[in-house]
Amino acid sequence: MPVTTTSPHPPGLEDLRMQDPEMADVILGEGERQATSLQLIAAENFTSPAVLAALGSPLANKYAEGYPGARYHGGCELVDVAERIACERATALFGAEHANVQPHSGSSAVLAAYAALLRPGDTVLAMSLAHGGHLTHGSPANFSGRWFDFVGYGVDAESGHIDYDQVRTLAEQHRPRAIVCGSICYPRHPDYAQFRDIADAAGAYLIADAAHPMGLIAGGAAPSPVPYADVVCATTHKVLRGPRGGLILCGAGLADRIDRAVFPFTQGGAQMNTIAAKAVAFGEAAAPAFAAYAHQVVDNARRLAGALAGQGFTVITGGTDTHVITADPGPIGIGGPQARARLAAANIVVDTCPLPYGNERGIRLGTAAVTTQGMGVAQMAEIASLFGAALREVPGTREEVRKLAGRFPPSSS
Ligand SMILES: *Cc1c(COP(=O)(O)O)cnc(C)c1O
Repeated sequence: MPVTTTSPHPPGLEDLRMQDPEMADVILGEGERQATSLQLIAAENFTSPAVLAALGSPLANKYAEGYPGARYHGGCELVDVAERIACERATALFGAEHANVQPHSGSSAVLAAYAALLRPGDTVLAMSLAHGGHLTHGSPANFSGRWFDFVGYGVDAESGHIDYDQVRTLAEQHRPRAIVCGSICYPRHPDYAQFRDIADAAGAYLIADAAHPMGLIAGGAAPSPVPYADVVCATTHKVLRGPRGGLILCGAGLADRIDRAVFPFTQGGAQMNTIAAKAVAFGEAAAPAFAAYAHQVVDNARRLAGALAGQGFTVITGGTDTHVITADPGPIGIGGPQARARLAAANIVVDTCPLPYGNERGIRLGTAAVTTQGMGVAQMAEIASLFGAALREVPGTREEVRKLAGRFPPSSS
């Protein structure tokens, strides 16, 4: 079954336009923005029309607390089928024994994983936020930093790669209850086998927060943490190209604890329309075309990283294994926030991110969305030149960007 990319308008928008033109304008305007600028936010992608159709379906009306066959509400026969299909597809796609498809987001998945394995006050070893850890990896502004005692590991100052000697030393020193591997901007593959070894030596659980690479893993373009981690947390909306939401995979032995940690411990009713959309996305990700997509995402990121280095950026770790590129525009004479603003003025959308050993922030970008649009390595070279022009504030750059985006509409309909 060929998978089309995204449709410009969500289903039923004509009805919305009649009833609520104010909000219809916002939604249409956002569609226009997405189609006329370059979406290089590493965590974003374009879902298929089929995923959007499931999201906008009657399943959005259904209450379904509990799990298939054991719900607190009546009328769940069909949504039970939807959730069973989603779980079967997730376990088959990732080779896992158990899947929980109910987490409302990646953060909810991590919260549930901690709830299943930890008690408040436990020590957890995770990548420090300054080196690319997520908010849920111990930020004082997040439940994680408030309820657990986080110790942070980092990357090597020279190579930018995870310093496994430091991870091992910290694990021996602090004897954490869990070790978390996963990051918001680390462009390389974590060495899951090494993390497993360190966790075993410390008597710790290993939690892989694979929110970013899960789509690459589905497509065989990145190594899988499933054989190594006790629990794998992920999002379904990044490279995986599904609806916004979370996913947890684990072995049969932890299945009950994980399920109870999601519902009723940290969440109420499952969002059945989103679960159906996750199932649709897992189905799409199992097709050979998705493997080709995932590999193209990485090829594109490697090409773009190289071309950005050619524009004067320092690319952290010297390149990438994934869809993520972390770059320091310092050598060009500006910081990350200023670079982001100049790029935005040229319709190029990126994030800033921490630089492990810099005072300034850098920029983080990714190739998942532009690859869904059908762009290849030739366009990555073009994009890097447009970065150079945008940062030098060359007049007319915005028009060039609009032209490039116009050649690859995020729609095949
Ligand atoms: C994106 C991300 C999350 C959180 O996902 P949300 O859906 O935004 O809550 C958690 N951990 C990592 C490593 C991420 O990249």
